[in-house]
Amino acid sequence: MTVCFYVTAFDFLLYNHLYITVAEGGNVMAYSIGIDLGGTNIVVGIVDDSRKIVDRKRVKTRAPRSAESLVDTMADTIDTLLTRQELSVTDLLSIGIGVPGVVDPETGMLLHATNLFLKHVDFPALLRERFPDVPVFIANDADCAVFGEYLAGAAHNYKSVLMLTLGTGIGGGFVFENKIFRGATGFGIEPGHMAIETGDRIACSCGQWDCLEVYASIRGLKRMTCEALSGDDDTVLRDRVSFDGASFNARYIFEAASEGDVVATMILDRFVHYLAIGIRNLVVLYRPHMILLGGGISHAGDVLLEPLRARVAQTTVSGDVLPPPPIERSNLGNDAGVIGAAMLYTEGQST
Ligand SMILES: [Zn+2]
Repeated sequence: MTVCFYVTAFDFLLYNHLYITVAEGGNVMAYSIGIDLGGTNIVVGIVDDSRKIVDRKRVKTRAPRSAESLVDTMADTIDTLLTRQELSVTDLLSIGIGVPGVVDPETGMLLHATNLFLKHVDFPALLRERFPDVPVFIANDADCAVFGEYLAGAAHNYKSVLMLTLGTGIGGGFVFENKIFRGATGFGIEPGHMAIETGDRIACSCGQWDCLEVYASIRGLKRMTCEALSGDDDTVLRDRVSFDGASFNARYIFEAASEGDVVATMILDRFVHYLAIGIRNLVVLYRPHMILLGGGISHAGDVLLEPLRARVAQTTVSGDVLPPPPIERSNLGNDAGVIGAAMLYTEGQST
């Protein structure tokens, strides 16, 4: 038997009510939908109240196409999952969407999403046309990923977490006491574009110079590797590394460094130097309880983390009095964005 009842103890942003399903045997079960809307794939998941994904479905984004068409795909996928799990819309506490763009923190309007070729889209309003009785929440996808790690991943025991996603560029987000920091404009933090003055004057994709992202990203690692191999030093990297197009694989640098290759170790040392400067700046500004590293480079593991922790500890102001926070790897992978989106309805609630 399924029973729905009215609860007023929760203070939602848009709604002040929710439904809870009481299953056979009296176990309270609550579900939310998390949507990770990416430029390539849309992942929709059903997340239970223990913050675990109970089912998920991935479909192609096929951008560019209209917001209405995207919402149809999302809504159809939700229906498919509900049917598969023998649930109904009344079992849902909320729907949350993570979008790859800037969201107006006041209105929930997606202002701009380059990968989707969309501007000024009200996704919550469009989804409510299909699910009029379900509260809908929206946030930037990187923020959803940090929120997921904060609630259910590597940072779940900490009051705040600052995450850096080290990929082709550097993304990031900051969650403090169950609230995503969005700043005045909805951009939140952009750690990849803090200036790291090195005198190299290397141009960044943002139009500025010497941002963290031009050094401590896959792009930066590739450039530093290219520079290192311009000399005559003997190194295994000459046989392993390819610079053609997207075929450059950062993994080979870390593997060679862990094998003791001198050139790879030197590249890693430069990389750690720059990343530690960025983290040091973030630590003294935000004093997060934890630093989390995600993205492809974070898979390097201890060969990166151990020298990085040591360098941050050496350089962080008052390191002896106020030790820097732990630096760890994120552990939810792509699930973080879905879980974070599904749990947006809990944002700001006291834990
Ligand atoms: Zn930049």
